[in-house]
Formats: sequence, C-alpha cells, structure tokens
Amino acid sequence: MTEAITAEREKALLATVPTGLLIGGEWRPAASGKTFEVEDPATGKVLLSIADAGPEDGMAALDAAAAAQEEWAKVPPRERGEILRRAFEMVTERADDFALLMTMEMGKPLAEARGEVTYGAEFLRWFSEEAVRAFGRYSVSPDGKSRLLVTKKPVGPCLLITPWNFPLAMATRKIAPAVAAGCTMVLKSANLTPLTSQLFAQIMLDAGLPAGVLNVIPTSTAGETTGPLIQDPRLRKLSFTGSTPVGRSLLADAAKTVLRTSMELGGNAPFIVFEDADVDAAVAGAMVAKLRNMGEACTAANRFIVHESVAEEFGAKFAEKVGQAVTARGTEATSTIGPLIDAKSRNKVHELVTDAVSAGAKVLVGGEPAEGEGYFYKPTVLSEVPAESRILSEEIFGPVAPIVTFGTEAEAVRLANSTEYGLVAYVFTKDLNRGLRMGEQLETGMLGLNAGVVSNAAAPFGGVKQSGLGREGGLEGIEEYLYTQYIGIADPYAS
Ligand code: NAP
Repeated sequence: MTEAITAEREKALLATVPTGLLIGGEWRPAASGKTFEVEDPATGKVLLSIADAGPEDGMAALDAAAAAQEEWAKVPPRERGEILRRAFEMVTERADDFALLMTMEMGKPLAEARGEVTYGAEFLRWFSEEAVRAFGRYSVSPDGKSRLLVTKKPVGPCLLITPWNFPLAMATRKIAPAVAAGCTMVLKSANLTPLTSQLFAQIMLDAGLPAGVLNVIPTSTAGETTGPLIQDPRLRKLSFTGSTPVGRSLLADAAKTVLRTSMELGGNAPFIVFEDADVDAAVAGAMVAKLRNMGEACTAANRFIVHESVAEEFGAKFAEKVGQAVTARGTEATSTIGPLIDAKSRNKVHELVTDAVSAGAKVLVGGEPAEGEGYFYKPTVLSEVPAESRILSEEIFGPVAPIVTFGTEAEAVRLANSTEYGLVAYVFTKDLNRGLRMGEQLETGMLGLNAGVVSNAAAPFGGVKQSGLGREGGLEGIEEYLYTQYIGIADPYAS
C-alpha cells in the first residue's frame, strides 16, 4: 500500500461496511434493536457500532439457510465455482480496503494485513477450482454380483464460528469450501473483529451468491445466540475455529444431536533448532513463527527448544532481531508489531512472563507492556525458562519467545510432544533424514521443515490431540462439507 492512511480514508472505508445482520439476502437490524461497539485496539477508540444478533435472529438466519439449501444444492458446481472466482477477483481488487479494515479492527501491521488478504482470497480461488472435483466412484463388487456407486453430497446447513485473530482468512477458509460443496450457512463472526466479515459478506452477494446461502450474525452473546442452532435438527454441521476450552464445550453440545463437527483449536507449537541448523535461517524463521500477527496465531511458535551447543548464539541473534521490531499502530509505515487485541490478553501475556521470570527465566529483551495508549506489549525473548513455567504449557498468544535447551534428538522429541496440543511444529536442521525422522515422531498435524510458516490454501491445515478435528484447505477441505452416499445396484446382467 503506497497511499498515506488519513483519518478521512479510514472514515470513508468504514462508511462502506454494512452494519446490519445478513439474513436471507437482506441486511437488517437485530430484532432487539441492539448494537455493539467495535474498537480499535491501537487506540481504544470505537470504530463502528453494528447490529447485535440475539437468539431470535440466530433462528431467523437458520430458517433462511434451511430454506435456501435444496435449491442451492442443485446449482451446478461450475456456477458455484464461478461465484467464488468472482469473489476472489473482487477481494483482490479491494485488497487495500480489506487490509486497512483488518488493521483497524484487529491491529496487525498493514503489510501483514495485505498478506492475510492474499492468503484469505486464495481460499476463494482454490475452492472455486475444487467445486467441480467432488468426485465419486463406480465399481464392481468383489463377488461380481452387484455394482457400487459412491457419490458425494453437501452435508446441508452449516454453522461457522470464527475467531478474531485472522478476520478474513478464518471466514474464507470455511465459507469457500461450504459454497463449493453446495451447503448453505450461518456465519457467527468474532465480536472483537466482525467488520471484515461484514464487508466480505457484501462481496459474496455482489459476486452473485443467492439470498440465504450465506447469513451473518455478529453478536455479543455467542453462546446464547448460537446454542439453539446447535440443538436444531435442521443444522447439519458445525465448523469452529477458536480456543480449545470453547471447542470442548461445543463438542459436548454437538453430541446431543450427533452433529458433524470440524474443530480448529489452540496450539502450543514447538520450534526446534538442531546443532546442525543454519542459525541465521532459524532466527529468520523464528521471527515469522513468533512475531507474525503479534504472536496471536494458533500456529505461533510457543516454545523454542534449542540444542545446548547453539542456544547462546541463537538466543543472542534472535533477541537482537526481536529488539529491532517497532511497536506502533499498524497503519504507521514503520510498524512491525501492532497492539494485542485487548487489555485482558495483554494482562495474560504479562502474567505468563512474570511467572517465568519469578521462577528464574532471564529476559534477553522486552519483558513488559509498552507505555502509552492501546494494548501494546514489548516483543520479548526469555532464556533458561524453567520446565514448570506456565508459559511452556499455555498458549501465549503474544510476542513472547521462551527458550529451553535439549541435548539429544530423543529429548527434543519428548519435550516437543509433552503437551495436550498437536497443531504444528517447526524443525530447523540441515539433515534431511533427521527432518523426516522428526516428522514421523512429532505428534502434530503440520510440520514446518526449515520454514517458519506453513499456512497455504492448497495444504490440509489442522491439528491432532486437543488441537482439533478435521482439516481446512487442500484436497481435504471440501470433504468437511460433503457426506458420502453409497448406492448398491443389482447385477445389471442378472435379468
Ligand atoms: P474463542 O474465545 O474460543 O472464540 C472463538 C469464537 O467462538 C468466537 O467467535 C467466539 O465468540 C465464539 N464463542 C465463544 N464462546 C462461545 C460459545 N459458548 N458458543 C458459541 N460460540 C462461542 O477464541 P478466540 O479468542 O476468538 O481465538 C483465539 C483462539 O483460537 C486461540 O486458542 C487460537 O489458537 C485459536 N485458533 C485456532 C486456529 C486453528 O486453525 N487451529 C486458528 C485461529 C485461532 P465471541 O467473539 O463473541 O467471543
């Protein structure tokens, strides 16, 4: 983005964001007339007030999705794909607007927000191509006496619940495969960052998505508003991205109607640096794996597990780079680190740092909140972090890197796997065999090998253990929105 971001530019952009609930193709106020405020985490100032859905609105959204399902499933896959392709073009054309809006409501620096627009839009392009590839199969049964026809069908109306940290990509990663598969949906965006989804939903309408296929219900009362939908037999799928505790509770609710679920939950990613790694490359990878999105990512490196022979060099070089990061509102050209999302998050990050330091960890750089308005936290590196520190077992969700050391490969594997989470791991080594061995031994859904970022629309994203169920993106992504039907056919030669 080359233009300077002025207050007028921000105001003009906010004026294009729909502020209602999207139900049955129309933007409308909440039945209660209530609204809630969306704040800029860099300044604490209110950006916009938007309609606050309640249970009645949630049910109206499900009514609209259920009513649209039959016709939508009949729309040819190519047409569904073309709607997604148009949406991809339109989001790309308005990349500057989407990036600025995300920076304003979520805080990430503009350059990162631009990166998220590219990543988020890619799900639209990828699934526009996948829409025509929901193949089945036909085969002769082993005894030759019948024929087996296997087809894929849309699961039906879905409830999509997204978190605040990637306002565009988390929405497109669910909406695009659901559209491609022929499902209708209700999106419950995060109440801290709902504006990007509002703007994106308008793009989907402009791209030709029929009324009722996508309904959007921002709300300040998530559980109360979505609870009745989860119990309604017309809902066929819940796709949730968020924290593990909320995911657990939604899984329990979903059990009552045996609802199909996809769960993208929390992480506690190990970042392992072996003695044979290129230390400079590992530091570059660590900067991305730790500081992207201010560390507010499920894939953020949470524990740096470094071989004892290179720990000092890695720690010093990493701390030097981290010390050069610039905390400022994301609209500033110099900003490389925006604010954390709110005061609660910043307090939690500082609590984890204080706990580790009081147990004996050394602060190499940072270690405290930044002064001034907004919820900024100084990027931090801690070394010699004691094993029992909370920071090693809890998701930090902030720009803080704790370093621990190991001696043998087996010890690195044991440390990395000693968590209830299993989303992603990062391994830095020049030995390809060692990298592959780590892939076999690490209990994670994804592995970055000499890479600090793994997110890619063409790859299956997801975790094992308490990091979740199912995959988003890749060839697997559309499967989450399809069910398999098998038709047994009598022997065509029998009569
Ligand atoms: P969260 O508190 O679990 O919230 C996630 C979403 O669930 C929000 O839309 C939230 O609504 C909603 N929600 C909360 N309680 C609910 C309930 N009882 N019923 C229905 N919906 C409910 O998580 P977050 O703080 O937004 O996001 C951060 C977490 O997401 C981290 O743990 C991170 O690791 C995880 N995450 C995982 C992935 C992944 O792909 N694995 C990706 C990104 C983030 P409100 O906004 O109204 O609270």
